[in-house]
Amino acid sequence: MQTDADGRVRRLAGSLADVTEGKVRDVLTGLPNRLLFEEQLSKVINLDQNKHGLSAVLFLDLDDFKRINDNHGHDAGDLLLCSVARKLEGCLRGSDMIARQKSGWSIARHGGDEFTILLHQLHSRADAEHIAERIIIGLAEPFLIGTREVLIGVSIGISFGSGEGKMPADAIREADTAMYYAKTDGRGRWRIFDPEMQAGATAKINLENDLRQAIRSHQFFLVYQPIVRLSSGRIEGFEALSRWKHPRGEKIGPDAFVPLIESLGLTSRLGRANFEEACEEVLKWNEFVSAGSRISVTVNCSSEVFSQPSFKHDLLLAMTRVGIDPHTLRLEVKEAALRGKPEQTRTVMNELRDLGIRIGIDDFGTGLSSLAFLHRIPLDLLKIDHSFVQTMLHCSETRDIVRTIINLAQNLDLDVVAEGVESAEQRDLLYEMGCTHAQGYFYSQPIPGAEVPDLLACNQKTQSVPRTTTRPDSESSRIETQLQNLNELLRQQ
Ligand code: C2E
Ligand code: CA
Ligand code: CA
Repeated sequence: MQTDADGRVRRLAGSLADVTEGKVRDVLTGLPNRLLFEEQLSKVINLDQNKHGLSAVLFLDLDDFKRINDNHGHDAGDLLLCSVARKLEGCLRGSDMIARQKSGWSIARHGGDEFTILLHQLHSRADAEHIAERIIIGLAEPFLIGTREVLIGVSIGISFGSGEGKMPADAIREADTAMYYAKTDGRGRWRIFDPEMQAGATAKINLENDLRQAIRSHQFFLVYQPIVRLSSGRIEGFEALSRWKHPRGEKIGPDAFVPLIESLGLTSRLGRANFEEACEEVLKWNEFVSAGSRISVTVNCSSEVFSQPSFKHDLLLAMTRVGIDPHTLRLEVKEAALRGKPEQTRTVMNELRDLGIRIGIDDFGTGLSSLAFLHRIPLDLLKIDHSFVQTMLHCSETRDIVRTIINLAQNLDLDVVAEGVESAEQRDLLYEMGCTHAQGYFYSQPIPGAEVPDLLACNQKTQSVPRTTTRPDSESSRIETQLQNLNELLRQQ
């Protein structure tokens, strides 16, 4: 430990005699590691408690580091971590505030793309905020990795103080929790820990544990919402939507758990269970419909499944085990999900379509698609997001968007399903505009699979809706203009 003339701690790194250098330093960056950091922190906490000093722990997590590893390889990732370490040292060494106030500091690599910083003998909390700000600005500058310029950001959590009985691990955990909040606030930010955050983090951990347990004990099930052909009013298929029956009794919707399942890497386990269940149901339903008609089931696929090697295998296994006609299975993928790995996604999609499985884009219009993108991927249908359907009667701009999507689908020879249809007015307008299919509470809420045969029996009597407009011509030259119009309309929203 280096001290200045007043006996204040200046520099902590390398202060421990009881651990060998190799054990306390991170081999890649040469920074102190987690062990050494905790030792240093423990000393500072004791010192603070005796002398009423103010210290802060900053927990840093690089934003999107995985992207660098994925796009540029692990060697580039390693080089970047070293450059970040040097940059962080530079930020602290060059800080006027630290020099002026003779504050002590130490940086450690906590693990992966996480770093921790200990600031000691601060005059005020604002000093730590100032340092965090300086680091965010410093790391926003491009890094030169080999011949490439790489951009990376950082999110920072700050924990202050050394309250009674506080342990180093507590201070680090608090800063880590605050960092998590900085990330969810939109990255490239800093947040200061407050105790309410801990409650939120605990709730998240409980939910994660519950989810793992739910998958093990099959607490997920599917409900099915009919998809109706507008020209005949007949049900042609059902969309399978996941529900979670929590042991406490409540039913939880997918918006609350699908993102967490994805972040925990459990997507393929939920997907496998869904495929099996949906295939079994669709096989039963087709026994209830007259010869010649065919009922399909649509399964929603998470963003990353197309790049998972097990995806196609799980799907084929479920289809062959249950023995369904592949033409009765449809997959729906969100528009945004298709952008990650286009080549790999396209190959898998082509293979699935060759088997007879149909593929649709969900929530079309919520991401800005290009014509090249639409041409590149093999598709059967576009689905109009319910947010458009629900506002189109009162808002002419939204109506234009819906019309443009329908025209585009027609010109690309795709079916178009409008979701979230809640009234006859919406249905009629969609039909007039040339939409082929609709889905929503106007027809039915999502229902248990066991109720589907009754609904199908009633549906045979459904009346058709007269068509009042003609289809626009299908010149392919119009598609580009339509897509440009659509993107323009969406940008204006
Ligand atoms: P989505 O695929 O866009 O599904 C449509 C959502 O709109 C469903 O919500 C459905 O219940 C709801 N909905 C249907 N008709 C109406 C209506 O008339 N009005 C209104 N306001 N809403 C309507 P849900 O079931 O909560 O699903 C939310 C999202 O969760 C789905 O959006 C889908 O992306 C995702 N999801 C559902 N099940 C699964 C699954 O098994 N796997 C994956 N990866 N995602 C799923
Ligand atoms: Ca869907
Ligand atoms: Ca949707």
